[in-house]
Parts: sequence; structure tokens; C-alpha cells
Amino acid sequence: MTKRVVIIGNGMAGARLQEELHRRDPGGERVTSVVIGEEPTAAYNRILMSNVVAGRISPADTMIRAEGWYREHNLQTHVGVRVERIDRADQSVHCSDGTVHHYDKLVFATGSRAFVPPIAGALDDDGLPVPGVVAFRNLTDCEAIVSALGKGVRVVVVGGGLLGLEAARGALLQGAAVTVVHPRSHPMEKQLDSAGGAVLTRILREIGMDVVLGGRVSAIRDDPQTGREVVLTDGATLGADLVIVAAGIAPNTEVAAEAGLAVDHGIVVDDELRTSDRAVYAIGECAQHRDIVYGLVQPGWEMAETVAENLIGDSQAGYEGTQQILRLKAHDIDLASMGEIDTDPGDLEAEVLTLSDPHRGRYAKVVVRKDRVAGAVLLGNPEVVGTISQLFDSGAPVPTDRMRLLLGHLTGGATESASPAQMPGDAIICRCNTVSKKNLTDAWRKGARSAGAMADATRATTGCGSCQSVVDGLCEWLKTADA
Ligand SMILES: Cc1cc2nc3c(=O)[nH]c(=O)nc-3n(C[C@H](O)[C@H](O)[C@H](O)COP(=O)(O)OP(=O)(O)OC[C@H]3O[C@@H](n4cnc5c(N)ncnc54)[C@H](O)[C@@H]3O)c2cc1C
Repeated sequence: MTKRVVIIGNGMAGARLQEELHRRDPGGERVTSVVIGEEPTAAYNRILMSNVVAGRISPADTMIRAEGWYREHNLQTHVGVRVERIDRADQSVHCSDGTVHHYDKLVFATGSRAFVPPIAGALDDDGLPVPGVVAFRNLTDCEAIVSALGKGVRVVVVGGGLLGLEAARGALLQGAAVTVVHPRSHPMEKQLDSAGGAVLTRILREIGMDVVLGGRVSAIRDDPQTGREVVLTDGATLGADLVIVAAGIAPNTEVAAEAGLAVDHGIVVDDELRTSDRAVYAIGECAQHRDIVYGLVQPGWEMAETVAENLIGDSQAGYEGTQQILRLKAHDIDLASMGEIDTDPGDLEAEVLTLSDPHRGRYAKVVVRKDRVAGAVLLGNPEVVGTISQLFDSGAPVPTDRMRLLLGHLTGGATESASPAQMPGDAIICRCNTVSKKNLTDAWRKGARSAGAMADATRATTGCGSCQSVVDGLCEWLKTADA
């Protein structure tokens, strides 16, 4: 009998799950799926919004599938519709447009929303940002930012994490005068130790960004003489035509909690990604798996695969967690961070290798435990990111001469500079989609004879896009090798 699956959320995890179900069961014989999403558009690649702010692509370029694709494949999606509540006894979902959908299996893929810290004057009576204040999360926010940007526009970014810095870099490229206000002693403190943070701060200031560290915004107000201003807790003020709030995220768990599902920071799931109700799953940023709530796309896509496998397959696939590698997507700043970055100086088990060249904006730190990479921060060293990520992922031993690692004298990683011939087959080329060199060469052998066709077959390049040049290089190499 065909199972009816309802997916709440038409974001990156929800849309991917529907595609994964369709891939496994194109005729819809085993499963029919319905996606219900609050946002007014078809699913788009949220990661690419930073490139929209930077003026490199348009909002239309972020769409995951061409218009009409879902209809052509008989996939039901309802956009602009919010799920208000679920009735678990009746196995039904109740929506803002009055519709009711019955399910055999239900999947929460409700993601997160931007967290707005308590700032007087930031929100209106309905709890929405006042005009000129944007909490950066969705395409509507992105379009509001883009339309406000321009030469000389004064922008204050609240929060110097990944999103804040990507937005700030984009605004700077559009000619805005940008100040980032961050409460800690250096930006991106979750991904950078203090020495790396100092190098990043220096880079940001050198490219023309004002960075206020150790500061918090307490209020946003309109001054009759000077216009809109942002007030810091120490009383200092900053003129601001646009305030972008990028101060963290909060998982969307309310509907799940009201339905009586176990919710902690996220919706609690087991290794099959089932919630406290076995008919209900949760994936992506709204899910809490083994106490972790992820904030990146790769885990959400891996979760989508696991759930698709469980709903269609005969076996029960398990999700074991994802090793996270974070890359900042900001023009002229290459930063990668993974695993353990802060070690206790008294911890004799940890070997900490560092290389600092602040004048040239370079910093590398690799933490090695038992001859394996346990973590790394790589700033301004794109040539070593592939190799070190590969060692981190695979748990392979590092070379005895540790300096070779830091200086990038090893080959074999998936970097722009590494020769495709030298990369091992299991080198991960597209992190967002966990696509290895072998997956790509297999696609080639099965007839995908261009970078675009290889991307269609494997999905490489369809996440943050930073692997595009490696896939292009691999494709060229395969053409030459086959000639
Ligand atoms: C600017 C920006 C840059 C980013 N860059 C990166 C990056 O470089 N690398 C990376 O890995 N990650 C990045 N991320 C994070 C990445 O986008 C998220 O990890 C990913 O989108 C999570 O997918 P999701 O489906 O769980 O949530 P979402 O994509 O947020 O989708 C959830 C959807 O559910 C909808 N929804 C919520 N509640 C309901 C309801 N009750 N009824 C109906 N619909 C509902 C929401 O409106 C939303 O459309 C970035 C995020 C942003 C904002």
C-alpha cells in the first residue's frame, strides 16, 4: 500500500527529502509525498543568499529546480502555507489555509529562524523587525537587504559570526559603509581561536570594515537630526541606514512541542531520526540528534537520505552524525574551520601545530591527536584545506614531518591546486553533498560527459558551490585521459 508522507517545511532539508523519495520511487508506488512550506516561493538554496547580497547572483539563481519541475514530476508542494498544528491521534496536519492533510508518516523539516537579541526598538508590536532592520534568514530578508544597499549606505551588522561576516562582506562590495558589532573579543569565536581571530579581525579592517569587538547593541532609535542610530551598551552610537541582525538562530520547534513531541533545544530524534512518536520524524536544523542541533546543510541532506531510505527501503538506515567543516564564503577571505580548535595547554595528548603570518593574512592551526587530525583552522591557506579536510574526514594518519602538512606539501586533497590524477578516489570534493572523486568518475563512466552532467548525476556543486572549479578540473582531466 502507498504510504502518504507529509513534510513540513519547504527548505533545504524538506525539499531534498521529497527529491530523495522521488529518486527511489519515481512512480510514487510506495510513497506519495506532500511538502507544505510557509515561505512563498519554491525551494531555494539558502546558502547562496550571501552571494545575492554581494551582487554576484540574483534571487532567481538560488532556485533549486526550474519552475514547473515539481509539477512535471507529480510532486505536490504547497507554498505560502503554514502548518498551524498537528493532531497525532488522527494523524493529520492542519494548515493556515484551512486545509487538512492526513499522513501515515510525518516529517518535521521546519529549520530555524533568526534569533533577535533583546534590542529596544528592533521589533514592532507583532514581534517583527521594524523597517530598516532585517534579520537575515530568508529570501525576503535578502531582497530587503539588497534593495537598501548602495554606495555610502551606512550598514550596522549585529553579530560577527559566519552569517554576519558574509552579509557584511557582501554589503561592503556593494559600496556600503559597514560596521560589525560583535560581543566577543574576536569574530567567529566558535570556529576560531583567539590568534586566528586576531588575524581575521585584521583582514576585515584592512578591507575597509569597521569591527567593534566586545560591544553589544542595546537599542535602535530614530534621531530627528541624524536619522536612525544604533546605541551600544556603553552609550556609543552608530549611524545606520540599515541594521542587519545576524546574532544566531533558534530552531522552529513550537508546532512539535504543542503536539506533545519531546523537544529540548531542537526536536529530539533517535538514530532513525524518529521523534518520540514513531510515525513522526525530524530532519535538518530543527532536529536534535545525539544532543547536537546542526546549523549547516550537509547534516540536513544526510538526514534526508536516511529518512528516504527508511521510508522506501526495507532496511532501517541509521544516522550517525556528521563531521562538520565550515567555510566562510566571503570574497577574498578564505577560512575553513573543523573539529577541535581550542585545546587546553596542559593537554599533553594534543599536538598543536601553528603557523601565523598576520601581515599576509594567513594563519593555520592543526590539532593532532594520536597521529590523526582532530581539528583545524585554516585562514588564507586554500591550498591545504582539501588535504587537511580529507585527513580529518578519513581519520588517516598525518605524516611524521608535521611541517609538510602545514605548508601544504602533501598532495591528495580535493583542492583547486591538487592534480585530479593524484587525488585518492575517496577524496571528498563536494562537502555539502558528500560527493567523492570516485562518485564523479563513476558518473563520467556512466555517460555524464560535462561538469553540468556530472553535477546532475551526483549533485556536486549544488550546495555552496565552492567545489565548482575542482569539478571543472576533474572533468577536463577525464576528457584528456579518455582522449
Ligand atoms: C545567509 C546564509 C548562509 C548560509 N551559508 C551556509 C553555508 O555556507 N554552508 C552551510 O552548510 N550552511 C549554510 N547556511 C545554513 C543552511 O542554509 C541551513 O543549514 C539549511 O538551510 C537548513 O535546512 P533546513 O531545511 O533544516 O531549514 P530551512 O532551510 O530554514 O527550511 C525550513 C523551512 O521550513 C519552513 N517552516 C518552518 N515552520 C513551518 C511551519 N509551521 N509550516 C510550514 N513551513 C514551515 C520555513 O519557512 C523554511 O522555509 C546558511 C544560512 C544562511 C541564512
